[in-house]
Amino acid sequence: MIYNTLSRTKETFEPINPPFVGMYVCGPTVYGDPHLGHARPAITFDLVFRYLKHLGFRVRYVRNITDVGHLENDQDEGEDKIAKKARLEQLEPMEIAQYYSDRYFQFMEALNVERPSIEPRASGHIIEQIQMIRDILDAGFAYEMNGSVYFDVVKYNENFHYGKLSGRVLDDLITNTRTLEGQDEKRNFVDFALWKKAQPEHIMRWPSPWSDGFPGWHLECSTMSKKYLGDHFDIHGGGLDLLFPHHESEIAQSRIANGSDAVKYWVHNNMITINGQKMGKSLNNFITLDEFFTGKNPALAQAYSPMTIRFFILQAQYRSTLDFSNEALQAAEKGLKKLLSSYETLGKLVPSVTNHSVVQSLEKSCYDAMNDDFNSPILIANLFEGVRIINSVNDGKEMINAADLELLKALYKTFVFEILGLKDEKQEQDSLVGGLMTTILSIRQRAKENKDFATSDEIRNALQELKITVKDTKDGPVWST
Ligand code: ZN
Repeated sequence: MIYNTLSRTKETFEPINPPFVGMYVCGPTVYGDPHLGHARPAITFDLVFRYLKHLGFRVRYVRNITDVGHLENDQDEGEDKIAKKARLEQLEPMEIAQYYSDRYFQFMEALNVERPSIEPRASGHIIEQIQMIRDILDAGFAYEMNGSVYFDVVKYNENFHYGKLSGRVLDDLITNTRTLEGQDEKRNFVDFALWKKAQPEHIMRWPSPWSDGFPGWHLECSTMSKKYLGDHFDIHGGGLDLLFPHHESEIAQSRIANGSDAVKYWVHNNMITINGQKMGKSLNNFITLDEFFTGKNPALAQAYSPMTIRFFILQAQYRSTLDFSNEALQAAEKGLKKLLSSYETLGKLVPSVTNHSVVQSLEKSCYDAMNDDFNSPILIANLFEGVRIINSVNDGKEMINAADLELLKALYKTFVFEILGLKDEKQEQDSLVGGLMTTILSIRQRAKENKDFATSDEIRNALQELKITVKDTKDGPVWST
Protein backbone atom coordinates (compact mmCIF):
# COMPACT_ATOMS: atom_id res chain seq x y z
CA MET A 1 0.00 0.00 0.00
CA ILE A 2 1.14 3.49 -0.81
CA TYR A 3 -0.41 6.70 0.49
CA ASN A 4 -1.52 8.93 -2.34
CA THR A 5 -1.68 12.62 -1.41
CA LEU A 6 -4.13 13.12 -4.26
CA SER A 7 -6.74 10.59 -3.08
CA ARG A 8 -5.79 11.04 0.60
CA THR A 9 -5.95 7.28 1.05
CA LYS A 10 -3.63 4.33 1.00
CA GLU A 11 -3.85 2.57 -2.35
CA THR A 12 -2.55 -0.75 -3.60
CA PHE A 13 0.64 -0.08 -5.51
CA GLU A 14 0.07 -1.05 -9.12
CA PRO A 15 2.57 0.40 -11.60
CA ILE A 16 1.25 1.53 -14.96
CA ASN A 17 3.61 -0.70 -16.88
CA PRO A 18 5.09 -3.37 -14.55
CA PRO A 19 7.86 -4.28 -13.87
CA PHE A 20 8.84 -0.72 -14.83
CA VAL A 21 8.32 2.07 -12.34
CA GLY A 22 8.84 5.73 -13.15
CA MET A 23 9.58 7.95 -10.15
CA TYR A 24 10.21 11.69 -10.23
CA VAL A 25 11.31 13.59 -7.13
CA CYS A 26 11.87 17.33 -6.87
CA GLY A 27 15.54 17.82 -6.13
CA PRO A 28 17.60 20.60 -4.59
CA THR A 29 17.94 24.23 -5.57
CA VAL A 30 21.69 24.66 -5.58
CA TYR A 31 22.56 27.99 -4.02
CA GLY A 32 23.37 27.01 -0.44
CA ASP A 33 24.95 24.27 1.62
CA PRO A 34 22.72 21.18 2.05
CA HIS A 35 21.01 21.09 5.43
CA LEU A 36 18.90 18.68 7.43
CA GLY A 37 15.84 19.61 5.36
CA HIS A 38 17.57 18.24 2.26
CA ALA A 39 18.36 14.94 3.94
CA ARG A 40 14.77 13.92 4.62
CA PRO A 41 13.35 13.80 1.06
CA ALA A 42 16.62 12.29 -0.22
CA ILE A 43 16.51 9.50 2.39
CA THR A 44 12.74 8.99 2.10
CA PHE A 45 12.82 8.42 -1.64
CA ASP A 46 16.04 6.44 -1.36
CA LEU A 47 14.08 4.06 0.88
CA VAL A 48 11.28 3.86 -1.71
CA PHE A 49 13.83 3.37 -4.54
CA ARG A 50 15.70 0.63 -2.65
CA TYR A 51 12.55 -1.19 -1.59
CA LEU A 52 10.88 -1.18 -5.01
CA LYS A 53 14.12 -2.50 -6.53
CA HIS A 54 14.26 -5.17 -3.84
CA LEU A 55 10.75 -6.26 -4.81
CA GLY A 56 11.97 -6.74 -8.37
CA PHE A 57 10.66 -3.56 -10.00
CA ARG A 58 12.84 -1.83 -12.55
CA VAL A 59 12.80 1.71 -11.27
CA ARG A 60 13.80 4.74 -13.29
CA TYR A 61 14.32 7.36 -10.65
CA VAL A 62 14.64 10.95 -11.86
CA ARG A 63 15.63 13.76 -9.49
CA ASN A 64 16.22 17.21 -10.90
CA ILE A 65 18.72 19.91 -10.02
CA THR A 66 17.25 23.41 -9.99
CA ASP A 67 20.11 25.52 -11.29
CA VAL A 68 18.41 28.23 -13.34
CA GLY A 69 18.18 30.70 -10.49
CA HIS A 70 14.66 31.28 -9.29
CA LEU A 71 13.25 34.26 -7.54
CA GLU A 72 13.48 34.68 -3.83
CA ASN A 73 9.90 34.53 -2.71
CA ASP A 74 8.64 32.06 -5.34
CA GLN A 75 6.00 34.62 -6.30
CA ASP A 76 7.70 35.73 -9.49
CA GLU A 77 9.16 38.67 -7.61
CA GLY A 78 12.42 39.43 -5.84
CA GLU A 79 16.00 38.65 -6.72
CA ASP A 80 17.35 35.55 -8.42
CA LYS A 81 18.71 33.37 -5.60
CA ILE A 82 21.75 32.02 -7.43
CA ALA A 83 22.64 35.41 -8.92
CA LYS A 84 22.40 37.03 -5.49
CA LYS A 85 24.87 34.54 -4.08
CA ALA A 86 27.10 35.02 -7.14
CA ARG A 87 27.08 38.78 -6.67
CA LEU A 88 27.90 38.43 -2.97
CA GLU A 89 30.77 36.02 -3.63
CA GLN A 90 31.84 37.56 -6.97
CA LEU A 91 31.43 34.36 -8.92
CA GLU A 92 29.79 33.31 -12.16
CA PRO A 93 26.31 31.96 -11.24
CA MET A 94 27.13 28.56 -12.74
CA GLU A 95 30.13 28.32 -10.41
CA ILE A 96 27.71 28.65 -7.51
CA ALA A 97 25.39 26.02 -8.99
CA GLN A 98 28.32 23.65 -9.64
CA TYR A 99 29.86 24.15 -6.21
CA TYR A 100 26.62 23.49 -4.32
CA SER A 101 25.54 20.57 -6.48
CA ASP A 102 28.94 18.96 -5.84
CA ARG A 103 28.44 19.58 -2.11
CA TYR A 104 24.97 18.07 -2.32
CA PHE A 105 26.26 14.88 -4.04
CA GLN A 106 29.10 14.59 -1.54
CA PHE A 107 26.80 14.77 1.48
CA MET A 108 24.20 12.45 -0.06
CA GLU A 109 26.95 9.89 -0.63
CA ALA A 110 27.97 10.19 3.02
CA LEU A 111 24.33 9.51 3.95
CA ASN A 112 24.51 6.40 1.72
CA VAL A 113 21.77 7.77 -0.54
CA GLU A 114 21.94 5.98 -3.89
CA ARG A 115 22.30 8.15 -6.96
CA PRO A 116 19.06 8.36 -8.95
CA SER A 117 18.99 6.92 -12.47
CA ILE A 118 18.91 10.39 -14.05
CA GLU A 119 19.75 13.77 -12.47
CA PRO A 120 18.73 16.33 -15.07
CA ARG A 121 19.52 20.02 -14.69
CA ALA A 122 16.92 22.66 -15.46
CA SER A 123 19.55 24.70 -17.33
CA GLY A 124 20.08 21.77 -19.71
CA HIS A 125 16.38 21.64 -20.64
CA ILE A 126 15.55 25.18 -21.73
CA ILE A 127 14.55 24.05 -25.25
CA GLU A 128 12.08 21.51 -23.85
CA GLN A 129 10.67 24.10 -21.45
CA ILE A 130 10.14 26.58 -24.29
CA GLN A 131 8.33 23.85 -26.22
CA MET A 132 6.00 23.13 -23.31
CA ILE A 133 5.20 26.85 -23.00
CA ARG A 134 4.31 26.86 -26.72
CA ASP A 135 2.02 23.86 -26.18
CA ILE A 136 0.25 25.56 -23.26
CA LEU A 137 -0.09 28.82 -25.24
CA ASP A 138 -1.47 26.89 -28.23
CA ALA A 139 -4.01 25.22 -25.97
CA GLY A 140 -5.12 28.66 -24.79
CA PHE A 141 -4.19 28.32 -21.13
CA ALA A 142 -1.39 30.88 -21.03
CA TYR A 143 -0.91 34.46 -22.14
CA GLU A 144 2.03 36.67 -22.98
CA MET A 145 2.54 40.01 -21.29
CA ASN A 146 5.56 42.27 -21.91
CA GLY A 147 7.86 39.38 -22.81
CA SER A 148 6.75 37.14 -19.94
CA VAL A 149 4.32 34.23 -20.24
CA TYR A 150 1.85 33.39 -17.46
CA PHE A 151 -0.31 30.35 -16.87
CA ASP A 152 -3.99 31.28 -16.75
CA VAL A 153 -5.03 29.66 -13.51
CA VAL A 154 -8.56 31.08 -13.56
CA LYS A 155 -9.30 29.68 -17.00
CA TYR A 156 -7.76 26.36 -16.02
CA ASN A 157 -9.96 26.22 -12.96
CA GLU A 158 -13.08 26.71 -15.10
CA ASN A 159 -12.25 23.41 -16.80
CA PHE A 160 -10.35 21.52 -14.11
CA HIS A 161 -9.76 21.91 -10.40
CA TYR A 162 -6.70 24.01 -9.51
CA GLY A 163 -6.05 22.97 -5.92
CA LYS A 164 -7.13 19.34 -6.00
CA LEU A 165 -3.84 18.07 -4.58
CA SER A 166 -3.68 20.43 -1.62
CA GLY A 167 -7.44 20.68 -1.15
CA ARG A 168 -7.54 24.37 -1.93
CA VAL A 169 -10.40 26.20 -3.61
CA LEU A 170 -9.46 28.91 -6.08
CA ASP A 171 -12.14 31.40 -4.97
CA ASP A 172 -10.79 31.26 -1.43
CA LEU A 173 -7.27 31.75 -2.72
CA ILE A 174 -8.32 34.83 -4.64
CA THR A 175 -10.31 36.38 -1.77
CA ASN A 176 -7.65 35.58 0.81
CA THR A 177 -4.75 37.00 -1.14
CA ARG A 178 -4.24 40.70 -1.41
CA THR A 179 -2.75 41.86 -4.67
CA LEU A 180 0.79 43.00 -4.13
CA GLU A 181 2.36 45.86 -5.99
CA GLY A 182 4.36 45.07 -9.10
CA GLN A 183 2.16 42.17 -10.09
CA ASP A 184 -0.25 44.08 -12.32
CA GLU A 185 1.25 42.28 -15.31
CA LYS A 186 -0.70 39.16 -14.45
CA ARG A 187 -4.40 38.94 -15.13
CA ASN A 188 -4.86 37.38 -11.72
CA PHE A 189 -2.68 37.14 -8.67
CA VAL A 190 -2.93 33.34 -8.71
CA ASP A 191 -1.44 33.07 -12.23
CA PHE A 192 2.15 31.92 -12.28
CA ALA A 193 5.07 32.53 -14.64
CA LEU A 194 5.99 29.99 -17.29
CA TRP A 195 8.59 32.36 -18.72
CA LYS A 196 9.89 35.49 -17.11
CA LYS A 197 11.54 38.33 -19.00
CA ALA A 198 14.91 39.07 -17.42
CA GLN A 199 15.55 42.48 -15.95
CA PRO A 200 18.83 44.07 -17.13
CA GLU A 201 20.66 43.05 -13.93
CA HIS A 202 19.52 39.44 -14.20
CA ILE A 203 22.52 37.29 -15.18
CA MET A 204 21.03 33.85 -15.82
CA ARG A 205 19.06 34.26 -19.04
CA TRP A 206 18.29 32.42 -22.23
CA PRO A 207 16.78 33.52 -25.53
CA SER A 208 13.16 32.60 -26.23
CA PRO A 209 10.41 33.64 -28.68
CA TRP A 210 9.08 36.03 -26.01
CA SER A 211 12.17 37.62 -24.49
CA ASP A 212 15.61 36.99 -23.11
CA GLY A 213 14.65 35.49 -19.80
CA PHE A 214 14.31 32.34 -17.78
CA PRO A 215 11.71 29.62 -17.17
CA GLY A 216 9.31 29.55 -14.22
CA TRP A 217 10.25 27.16 -11.43
CA HIS A 218 7.22 24.87 -11.70
CA LEU A 219 7.81 24.31 -15.39
CA GLU A 220 11.10 22.42 -15.17
CA CYS A 221 9.55 19.50 -13.28
CA SER A 222 6.64 19.09 -15.72
CA THR A 223 9.12 19.23 -18.60
CA MET A 224 11.82 16.92 -17.28
CA SER A 225 9.41 14.32 -15.90
CA LYS A 226 7.70 14.21 -19.31
CA LYS A 227 11.01 13.92 -21.13
CA TYR A 228 12.38 11.02 -19.08
CA LEU A 229 9.26 9.25 -17.78
CA GLY A 230 6.64 10.02 -20.40
CA ASP A 231 3.20 11.65 -20.25
CA HIS A 232 2.01 9.26 -17.57
CA PHE A 233 4.20 7.91 -14.80
CA ASP A 234 3.89 6.18 -11.43
CA ILE A 235 5.30 8.18 -8.51
CA HIS A 236 5.92 11.87 -8.02
CA GLY A 237 7.59 12.75 -4.75
CA GLY A 238 8.86 15.70 -2.80
CA GLY A 239 8.60 17.49 0.50
CA LEU A 240 5.23 18.57 1.83
CA ASP A 241 6.35 22.19 1.46
CA LEU A 242 6.21 21.68 -2.32
CA LEU A 243 2.55 20.66 -2.35
CA PHE A 244 1.39 24.19 -3.02
CA PRO A 245 1.96 26.00 -5.28
CA HIS A 246 4.73 23.90 -6.90
CA HIS A 247 3.04 20.53 -7.36
CA GLU A 248 -0.38 22.02 -7.85
CA SER A 249 1.00 24.08 -10.72
CA GLU A 250 2.87 21.09 -12.14
CA ILE A 251 -0.44 19.21 -12.29
CA ALA A 252 -2.06 22.08 -14.19
CA GLN A 253 0.81 22.48 -16.68
CA SER A 254 1.11 18.75 -17.40
CA ARG A 255 -2.67 18.36 -17.72
CA ILE A 256 -2.76 21.00 -20.46
CA ALA A 257 0.51 20.03 -22.20
CA ASN A 258 -0.16 16.27 -22.20
CA GLY A 259 -3.94 16.19 -22.38
CA SER A 260 -4.20 13.97 -19.29
CA ASP A 261 -2.99 13.81 -15.70
CA ALA A 262 0.65 12.81 -15.52
CA VAL A 263 1.04 11.27 -12.07
CA LYS A 264 -0.55 8.15 -10.56
CA TYR A 265 0.74 8.38 -6.97
CA TRP A 266 1.72 11.65 -5.30
CA VAL A 267 3.99 11.02 -2.32
CA HIS A 268 5.10 13.70 0.15
CA ASN A 269 7.48 13.49 3.06
CA ASN A 270 6.71 15.65 6.08
CA MET A 271 8.99 18.32 7.48
CA ILE A 272 11.72 18.28 10.12
CA THR A 273 11.25 20.73 12.96
CA ILE A 274 14.05 21.98 15.18
CA ASN A 275 13.17 21.89 18.87
CA GLY A 276 9.51 22.11 17.87
CA GLN A 277 10.02 25.04 15.49
CA LYS A 278 9.71 24.98 11.74
CA MET A 279 13.01 25.28 9.90
CA GLY A 280 13.08 28.42 7.85
CA LYS A 281 15.03 31.27 6.41
CA SER A 282 13.26 33.82 8.59
CA LEU A 283 14.01 31.86 11.76
CA ASN A 284 17.57 31.27 10.58
CA ASN A 285 17.62 27.90 12.32
CA PHE A 286 18.96 25.76 9.49
CA ILE A 287 21.68 23.36 10.57
CA THR A 288 23.77 22.26 7.60
CA LEU A 289 24.82 18.65 7.16
CA ASP A 290 28.43 19.77 7.35
CA GLU A 291 27.73 21.21 10.80
CA PHE A 292 26.07 17.97 11.90
CA PHE A 293 29.02 15.87 10.74
CA THR A 294 31.59 18.16 12.40
CA GLY A 295 29.55 19.31 15.40
CA LYS A 296 30.36 22.93 14.55
CA ASN A 297 27.09 24.65 15.42
CA PRO A 298 26.15 26.08 18.81
CA ALA A 299 22.85 24.16 18.69
CA LEU A 300 24.72 20.83 18.58
CA ALA A 301 26.00 19.09 21.69
CA GLN A 302 28.36 16.93 19.62
CA ALA A 303 29.10 15.78 16.06
CA TYR A 304 26.70 13.24 14.58
CA SER A 305 27.79 10.74 11.96
CA PRO A 306 25.96 10.50 8.63
CA MET A 307 24.54 7.09 9.64
CA THR A 308 23.15 8.55 12.86
CA ILE A 309 21.34 11.19 10.80
CA ARG A 310 20.07 8.53 8.40
CA PHE A 311 18.84 6.28 11.21
CA PHE A 312 17.22 9.25 12.98
CA ILE A 313 15.25 10.09 9.82
CA LEU A 314 14.25 6.47 9.20
CA GLN A 315 12.98 6.13 12.77
CA ALA A 316 9.96 8.21 11.79
CA GLN A 317 7.41 7.29 9.16
CA TYR A 318 7.98 9.69 6.28
CA ARG A 319 4.49 11.27 6.59
CA SER A 320 5.01 12.25 10.25
CA THR A 321 6.82 15.37 11.32
CA LEU A 322 10.19 14.69 12.85
CA ASP A 323 11.60 16.90 15.56
CA PHE A 324 15.33 17.42 15.83
CA SER A 325 16.88 17.67 19.28
CA ASN A 326 20.23 16.58 20.64
CA GLU A 327 18.46 14.02 22.83
CA ALA A 328 16.67 12.49 19.85
CA LEU A 329 19.89 12.24 17.85
CA GLN A 330 21.80 10.79 20.79
CA ALA A 331 19.07 8.18 21.19
CA ALA A 332 19.34 7.41 17.47
CA GLU A 333 23.10 7.03 17.79
CA LYS A 334 22.65 4.58 20.65
CA GLY A 335 19.92 2.62 18.87
CA LEU A 336 21.97 2.29 15.71
CA LYS A 337 24.98 1.08 17.67
CA LYS A 338 22.83 -1.55 19.35
CA LEU A 339 21.41 -2.72 16.03
CA LEU A 340 24.81 -2.97 14.37
CA SER A 341 26.66 -4.55 17.26
CA SER A 342 24.00 -7.25 17.48
CA TYR A 343 24.92 -8.16 13.89
CA GLU A 344 28.44 -8.85 15.11
CA THR A 345 27.05 -11.03 17.91
CA LEU A 346 24.86 -12.79 15.36
CA GLY A 347 27.98 -13.91 13.49
CA LYS A 348 29.23 -15.68 16.62
CA LEU A 349 26.04 -17.53 17.59
CA VAL A 350 26.09 -21.31 17.57
CA PRO A 351 22.97 -23.05 16.30
CA SER A 352 21.26 -25.74 18.34
CA VAL A 353 19.05 -28.63 17.27
CA THR A 354 15.98 -27.35 19.01
CA ASN A 355 14.41 -24.04 18.17
CA HIS A 356 12.29 -21.62 20.12
CA SER A 357 12.69 -18.58 17.95
CA VAL A 358 10.11 -16.76 15.89
CA VAL A 359 12.32 -15.60 13.06
CA GLN A 360 9.93 -16.67 10.31
CA SER A 361 7.08 -14.56 11.58
CA LEU A 362 9.59 -11.75 12.06
CA GLU A 363 10.47 -11.81 8.37
CA LYS A 364 6.80 -11.49 7.48
CA SER A 365 6.36 -8.59 9.91
CA CYS A 366 9.29 -6.78 8.28
CA TYR A 367 7.71 -7.08 4.83
CA ASP A 368 4.29 -6.12 6.24
CA ALA A 369 5.80 -2.92 7.65
CA MET A 370 7.41 -1.92 4.37
CA ASN A 371 4.31 -2.87 2.38
CA ASP A 372 2.28 -0.56 4.59
CA ASP A 373 3.38 2.72 3.02
CA PHE A 374 7.10 2.21 3.71
CA ASN A 375 6.65 2.17 7.47
CA SER A 376 10.30 2.23 8.48
CA PRO A 377 9.74 2.75 12.25
CA ILE A 378 7.66 -0.43 12.44
CA LEU A 379 10.32 -2.21 10.40
CA ILE A 380 12.98 -0.99 12.84
CA ALA A 381 10.86 -2.15 15.80
CA ASN A 382 10.73 -5.62 14.23
CA LEU A 383 14.48 -5.58 13.71
CA PHE A 384 14.90 -4.81 17.40
CA GLU A 385 12.88 -7.93 18.11
CA GLY A 386 15.69 -9.63 16.15
CA VAL A 387 18.22 -7.91 18.42
CA ARG A 388 16.35 -9.28 21.44
CA ILE A 389 16.48 -12.82 20.04
CA ILE A 390 20.20 -12.53 19.28
CA ASN A 391 21.03 -11.33 22.79
CA SER A 392 18.79 -13.93 24.34
CA VAL A 393 20.43 -16.77 22.38
CA ASN A 394 23.84 -15.31 23.18
CA ASP A 395 22.94 -15.34 26.89
CA GLY A 396 21.80 -18.97 26.63
CA LYS A 397 18.18 -18.11 27.44
CA GLU A 398 16.81 -19.05 24.02
CA MET A 399 17.77 -21.53 21.34
CA ILE A 400 17.86 -21.12 17.61
CA ASN A 401 18.42 -23.76 14.92
CA ALA A 402 20.74 -23.41 11.92
CA ALA A 403 17.97 -22.57 9.44
CA ASP A 404 16.57 -19.77 11.59
CA LEU A 405 20.05 -18.47 12.25
CA GLU A 406 20.65 -18.18 8.51
CA LEU A 407 17.26 -16.53 8.08
CA LEU A 408 18.12 -13.98 10.73
CA LYS A 409 21.40 -13.17 8.98
CA ALA A 410 19.54 -12.79 5.68
CA LEU A 411 17.03 -10.51 7.40
CA TYR A 412 19.82 -8.16 8.48
CA LYS A 413 21.39 -8.15 5.04
CA THR A 414 18.08 -7.40 3.36
CA PHE A 415 16.47 -4.95 5.72
CA VAL A 416 19.28 -3.27 7.67
CA PHE A 417 21.86 -2.93 4.92
CA GLU A 418 20.05 -3.17 1.58
CA ILE A 419 16.69 -1.49 2.27
CA LEU A 420 17.35 0.87 5.18
CA GLY A 421 20.77 1.51 3.65
CA LEU A 422 22.56 1.54 7.02
CA LYS A 423 26.21 0.64 7.32
CA ASP A 424 28.73 0.14 10.04
CA GLU A 425 30.87 3.25 9.61
CA LYS A 426 33.35 2.24 12.30
CA GLN A 427 33.89 -1.22 10.88
CA GLU A 428 34.22 0.27 7.41
CA GLN A 429 36.83 2.69 8.65
CA ASP A 430 38.64 -0.05 10.56
CA SER A 431 38.81 -2.22 7.49
CA LEU A 432 39.96 0.74 5.41
CA VAL A 433 42.75 1.55 7.87
CA GLY A 434 43.58 -2.14 8.17
CA GLY A 435 43.87 -2.47 4.40
CA LEU A 436 46.07 0.61 4.12
CA MET A 437 48.34 -0.61 6.92
CA THR A 438 48.79 -4.02 5.29
CA THR A 439 49.81 -2.31 2.05
CA ILE A 440 52.22 0.10 3.78
CA LEU A 441 53.83 -2.64 5.84
CA SER A 442 54.33 -4.91 2.87
CA ILE A 443 56.08 -2.06 1.01
CA ARG A 444 58.29 -1.58 4.09
CA GLN A 445 58.98 -5.31 4.24
CA ARG A 446 60.02 -5.41 0.59
CA ALA A 447 62.27 -2.36 1.06
CA LYS A 448 64.02 -4.12 3.95
CA GLU A 449 64.49 -7.28 1.91
CA ASN A 450 66.01 -5.19 -0.88
CA LYS A 451 68.24 -3.45 1.69
CA ASP A 452 66.54 -0.15 0.78
CA PHE A 453 66.82 1.14 4.34
CA ALA A 454 66.14 4.74 3.33
CA THR A 455 62.58 3.77 2.31
CA SER A 456 61.91 1.47 5.25
CA ASP A 457 63.13 4.17 7.69
CA GLU A 458 61.01 6.79 5.97
CA ILE A 459 57.93 4.61 6.42
CA ARG A 460 58.78 3.88 10.05
CA ASN A 461 59.30 7.58 10.81
CA ALA A 462 56.10 8.62 9.06
CA LEU A 463 54.16 6.02 11.06
CA GLN A 464 55.82 7.14 14.27
CA GLU A 465 54.65 10.66 13.61
CA LEU A 466 51.11 9.30 13.36
CA LYS A 467 51.72 7.53 16.69
CA ILE A 468 51.62 4.11 15.06
CA THR A 469 54.24 1.70 16.33
CA VAL A 470 55.41 -1.31 14.35
CA LYS A 471 56.95 -4.37 15.94
CA ASP A 472 58.67 -7.01 13.88
CA THR A 473 57.74 -10.47 15.07
CA LYS A 474 58.55 -13.87 13.65
CA ASP A 475 55.11 -13.90 12.02
CA GLY A 476 55.75 -10.54 10.34
CA PRO A 477 55.20 -6.92 11.39
CA VAL A 478 52.42 -6.05 13.87
CA TRP A 479 51.16 -2.49 14.27
CA SER A 480 49.37 -0.70 17.06
CA THR A 481 48.36 2.84 17.97
ZN1 ZN B 1 9.59 20.07 -8.73
